[in-house]
Amino acid sequence: MEGGADTVKALVYNGPRDVAVSEVAEPRIERPADAVVQIIRTNICGSDLHMYEGRTDIEPGRVLGHENMGRVVEVGQAVEQVKVGDMVCLPFNIACGHCQNCERGHTNYCMVANPDPRVAGAAYGFAGMGPWNGGQAEYLLVPWADFNCLRLPDDAVEKQNDYVMVADIFPTGYHATEMAGVGPGDSVVIYGAGPVGLMAAYSSILKSASKVMVVDHSHPDRLGLAEKIGAIPIDDSTSSPVDQVLEQTGGVGADCGCECVGYQAHDPQGREHPNETLNELVRSVRFTGSIGTVGVYVPADPRGPDELARQGEVAFDFGLFWTKGQRMGTGQCPVKAYNRHLRDLIHLGKAKPSFIVSHELPLTDAPAGYQHFDARDNGWTKVVLAPAA
Ligand code: ZN
Ligand code: ZN
Repeated sequence: MEGGADTVKALVYNGPRDVAVSEVAEPRIERPADAVVQIIRTNICGSDLHMYEGRTDIEPGRVLGHENMGRVVEVGQAVEQVKVGDMVCLPFNIACGHCQNCERGHTNYCMVANPDPRVAGAAYGFAGMGPWNGGQAEYLLVPWADFNCLRLPDDAVEKQNDYVMVADIFPTGYHATEMAGVGPGDSVVIYGAGPVGLMAAYSSILKSASKVMVVDHSHPDRLGLAEKIGAIPIDDSTSSPVDQVLEQTGGVGADCGCECVGYQAHDPQGREHPNETLNELVRSVRFTGSIGTVGVYVPADPRGPDELARQGEVAFDFGLFWTKGQRMGTGQCPVKAYNRHLRDLIHLGKAKPSFIVSHELPLTDAPAGYQHFDARDNGWTKVVLAPAA
């Protein structure tokens, strides 16, 4: 087309704490199984901040955004089930559907979607997860569209801020509770009251846990939301969170623990300790309890606070972990393992994960959204972008 019309607006990473809405090449069908999706809702995620802060090796020029939902506008010749006009939610994991790991349901570790043979797993707009552009943009290229698109029912637009949470944080929080073995009647402690921690708390409550405790620094907005959904907020800036959890559980510790903070865990004074939440979880969870770790840890952190962290190693209290006979599940969430069920809970009115949304912004305001979310400004609990607005 003449006149330079084949560009679209997208949020581009230019360097540490420097993102901008720029014109980029319009996504086009490249392979027969591709689809192009017009993005209706796309979130800023806590894990986008690792890239925003320059703590990864993502290259300037990449479009960020891995929590996406929208309308299919074009499909390749090999796409059979997904049709133009379908409303879809895209798992943040990009998976081929037919490699060894995908066949076993481990779509979080697809061996094909990431061209680096040393790494399994791919995602939209994410450091180390393949060359794919993200969806904080007007349009997104979706590979292996039949496998990756979750089609949404006729309330897709009405509940768009709920369904977009099914791309990542709702399944990721749910996955933490699955790895932690949360079931009816269990007590659960969750470290981190960010969006994923709140979704882990919400998932625990959906699973009829008897007591759900959420630990964070004195963020009144985040801890307030935890309390609002029926969890017990634990402020670790006033006294030891471990002592508070033990007091809540008769001195025994919680049955289940979820790590929803990751390697940039820091004390109330802002100093980073990558081992802090992991060791507090070992002490907060009972003997033989299970821990699900979905907070991000990295094999190397070149700008980490000390030599150990720079090598990607963590001073983990393995002795106490072993002595207590605990188990731990790790890694990114296989979104496809849960997204249909979570979609159906939303459709039938049994779940409303949009309770965490604090800001809904047009794409042009995305840079300001990053700034506020990165600063953990009070009240900025979750930012949803609306590129089609
Ligand atoms: Zn995310
Ligand atoms: Zn695969």
